[in-house]
Amino acid sequence: MEQLDVTEGFDVHEYRHGLKLINEDRQTMHLENRDGFACPACEKPFEDLFVTEKRTNTFGDPASPFCIVRTDQEVLLLTH
Ligand SMILES: [Zn+2]
Repeated sequence: MEQLDVTEGFDVHEYRHGLKLINEDRQTMHLENRDGFACPACEKPFEDLFVTEKRTNTFGDPASPFCIVRTDQEVLLLTH
């Protein structure tokens, strides 16, 4: 199982083959895990990945466990 590598930030293009883009705008992206990628925080496969460069973010009820990963440029929220 391939784990997302965030040691030098998150580059969506490295994983584009297995992440389906649900929607995006200038500073955020919502992707679906189609290739069983593992979460960089807990090392388990995740379902959805939200990537945001915004300073503040509000999410609805995730209704499942989630992990948060911070890089220099963005925050990643991964749902399980
Ligand atoms: Zn996780």
